[in-house]
Amino acid sequence: MGETIGKIALAACQVIMIQVLLSAGAVTGEEDHDVLYQVSTIDALLESVYDGVMNMSGLLEHGDFGIGCFEGIDGEMIGVDGEFYQALADGSVRLVSDNQTTPFATVTFFEPDLNLTVEGDNLTLLESSFEAQIPSDNMFYAIRIDGVFPYVKARAIPKQEKPYPRLAEASANQSVFELYNVSGSIVGFYSPPFSKGVNVPGYHLHLISDDRKAGGHILDLRLNQTTASLDVTPEFFMLLPTEGAFAGANLTKDLSAELEQVEK
Ligand code: ZN
Repeated sequence: MGETIGKIALAACQVIMIQVLLSAGAVTGEEDHDVLYQVSTIDALLESVYDGVMNMSGLLEHGDFGIGCFEGIDGEMIGVDGEFYQALADGSVRLVSDNQTTPFATVTFFEPDLNLTVEGDNLTLLESSFEAQIPSDNMFYAIRIDGVFPYVKARAIPKQEKPYPRLAEASANQSVFELYNVSGSIVGFYSPPFSKGVNVPGYHLHLISDDRKAGGHILDLRLNQTTASLDVTPEFFMLLPTEGAFAGANLTKDLSAELEQVEK
């Protein structure tokens, strides 16, 4: 019964969202997929809410591009061109299956609006290179960079067992991979400062190699001058978990320091 009402409410939301999309399309004069779709919040993940609340087939209805993780963390999610991968802590990469679930993910249909020329001898310099060029700090952007990257340091957090440790604790046991001259795609997002607590303010990038044999969450990299494609996503849709540990989590704290420790 409750579920039926939930579905009706969701359907109503979808109708509203479609109207918003159509009106946005009217403004820009093009068919618009510029919705950033997010499952749960980054602070919930930091608070060890790792229950998978949406399966991959459901997530793929909302995007062909994105990043996230899986039930119990279990590695890193990378989605590009409609193919979603799981980079595991043992260093392997596999295609996800429809029934795998995610506790936290951000996806969109990637349609580039801007091309920027970026470079950086490390991640901080790459971010500065973006910072100097993005039209506004106050927008969400999906970011894709294809190329051969001289150096990428990537990580994957192993699968966690209940009772789940905090993400900061789980990430202490992460696997770190150093890749040289890797041909692949960098997939991720820039989220504005005001999204603190909801997503990762600033840049959050994952890697998938072209041979689909390596990937993970990017901790550092070296990038020669190359083109980055950005998809401006002014619409934001967030699905909060109605099951699992989310409802009982304490999400009142400022977890900026813990996020910094986990993501960098
Ligand atoms: Zn990540």
